[in-house]
Amino acid sequence: MPLSEVQGQAKAVDALQKSLASGHVHHAWLFTGPEGVGKELTAVGLAQALTCPEKPSVGCGECSSCQRVLRRNHPDVTWVLTEDEQVARGIVGRAEFDHTPSRDIKVEQVRALGERLSFRALESSFKVALIIDAHAMNPQAQNALLKTLEEPPKGTVLLLTTSMPDKLLPTIRSRCAKASFWSPARALPGREGDRQA
Ligand SMILES: [Zn+2]
Repeated sequence: MPLSEVQGQAKAVDALQKSLASGHVHHAWLFTGPEGVGKELTAVGLAQALTCPEKPSVGCGECSSCQRVLRRNHPDVTWVLTEDEQVARGIVGRAEFDHTPSRDIKVEQVRALGERLSFRALESSFKVALIIDAHAMNPQAQNALLKTLEEPPKGTVLLLTTSMPDKLLPTIRSRCAKASFWSPARALPGREGDRQA
């Protein structure tokens, strides 16, 4: 979904669109806000805008590149999710783990990301990383990420989403540009309905 179609988060989307239009997108963003308000959707939209060959810096949402970003198989867009979340989303089968799928983002995952980002982008000018629920990074993982945040490989944009920014090291938070997401007031009646259903 292109950024322009993200609903109810005008302030955050506006800041990102301005950053894209300026041609100087910050190398790390922290998207904060409650669960289910569009942080990940917006991160996907930003990743599409950064990699889309049809509408550069905007994202068309429809071309092969944008579709592959959405389906998590674009070579220049790396997703970092806990094992638990990978199983929940059906990305990896439960049977593939010989242990209980971890609810932490582990240091090995962050190191693998750092290595991947050190290579050149394959199709686009940017290499994008989506770290979903970044607060799930354990302390070792956060320390490993700091290294990448301090010396980001050229053309790297890291997108961290979190509903619990206080669980991140202050040094991580301070190196990221921030975008705040809110629960749109009109979503509340729907939530009530969900609870009753
Ligand atoms: Zn596109």
